[in-house]
Amino acid sequence: MTRSLSIFGATGSVGSSTLDLVRRDRDAWDVKVLTANSSAAELAALAQEFGAELAVVADEAHLPALRDALSGSSIEAAGGRDALCEAATRPADMSVAAIVGCAGLGPVMAAIEQGSSVALANKEALVSAGEVMTAAVERTGATLLPVDSEHNAIFQCLQGGAVEDVRWITLTASGGPLRTWSPAELAKATPQQAIAHPNWDMGAKISVDSATMFNKGLELIEAHHLFPVGLDRIRIVVHPQSVIHSMVEYRDGSTLAQLGPSDMKVPIASCLAWPERMETGCEPLDLPAIGSLTFEHPDEQRFPATRLAREAAEAGGAAPGVLNAANEVAVAAFLDGKIGFTRIAVLVEDALNRFAPPAPRSLAEVLCVDEEARAVAASMIETA
Ligand code: NDP
Repeated sequence: MTRSLSIFGATGSVGSSTLDLVRRDRDAWDVKVLTANSSAAELAALAQEFGAELAVVADEAHLPALRDALSGSSIEAAGGRDALCEAATRPADMSVAAIVGCAGLGPVMAAIEQGSSVALANKEALVSAGEVMTAAVERTGATLLPVDSEHNAIFQCLQGGAVEDVRWITLTASGGPLRTWSPAELAKATPQQAIAHPNWDMGAKISVDSATMFNKGLELIEAHHLFPVGLDRIRIVVHPQSVIHSMVEYRDGSTLAQLGPSDMKVPIASCLAWPERMETGCEPLDLPAIGSLTFEHPDEQRFPATRLAREAAEAGGAAPGVLNAANEVAVAAFLDGKIGFTRIAVLVEDALNRFAPPAPRSLAEVLCVDEEARAVAASMIETA
């Protein structure tokens, strides 16, 4: 049976892995919408390869290039943030939310409003919108499937028992490329060093988040919304080999874990095929070759991000959105060489202390918090 599929963020790391899976079984998928921010040529090539109905660039300045590249084909071209959200209202059996940052929130919410299946990689959208998004999922009956490898692992482990019987959810963290660095070394870490992840090949923003541990902080908040066991039952364990993607311990003492290669095709395939399974082409897990699996407590002195995220989740309301927006601004400034690595967490903490708006109750209010928090963080960078 052919299913229709739209991919928001098709030119990125998760988008590319999703399209690799589609290439394995072209007849299974009817590609409707593909989007990018500015990579017009790459997007046009993908839209032509997969016979998409519509290609959208979020940055309207790149629409002429997209139109040129698609001229002579029957593929529609569109540009701008409204066009992105409108594209998400086109019916699709499955929408993959793979835009990076809160910029993906509008399309995610528009896809949820259609009440179909949304495979969510774009964790910043859920962190920022929190209850506004989970309430929309409940109201529309949409199916939200977690792509993030940790949450996908937890989702799979929860098929083995009831949420009421969960004692612990353990999110595993690789610790990133700077895990063993001293505070003095961390202060001097360059963007190249921070994005050189030892296990995963990912976009630049999530790679920096992985190095600061903000990725795990965002995931803690994400898990809190997806799996309602209570924040005090979600803990983080550093597991440098990234073989166990997360675990669920039940009250009888049984711990279920999901293991797999460090390849996003595995959790993406789990979402695309759910509740069934599909081939990914990934090599089987070779445990004797891996040898040993090790575990450590997170070091919140050197990496304060998980503490900040837990505090923001406990505060609730607008705090997770402020944390996310400030982190997005700080990561962009770090990648631009404007601030040092350890300033990222300092800036996020300062933004949380300075800006505490009321809890947003609608998508418009979430976007407003995001915009204002970005302005606060940006002004802190300028005046530093
Ligand atoms: P990439 O940076 O590789 O790709 C991002 C995609 O979003 C690209 O298609 C990009 O288009 C598009 N995009 C960027 N900015 C905007 C914008 N302002 N408006 C609309 N579209 C935009 O990111 P990843 O694939 O690494 O990550 C995507 C999401 O998935 C993130 O939320 C990340 O946290 C999450 N995730 C990623 C994992 C991974 O392995 N990469 C693992 C788990 C979660 P363009 O090419 O034109 O810039």
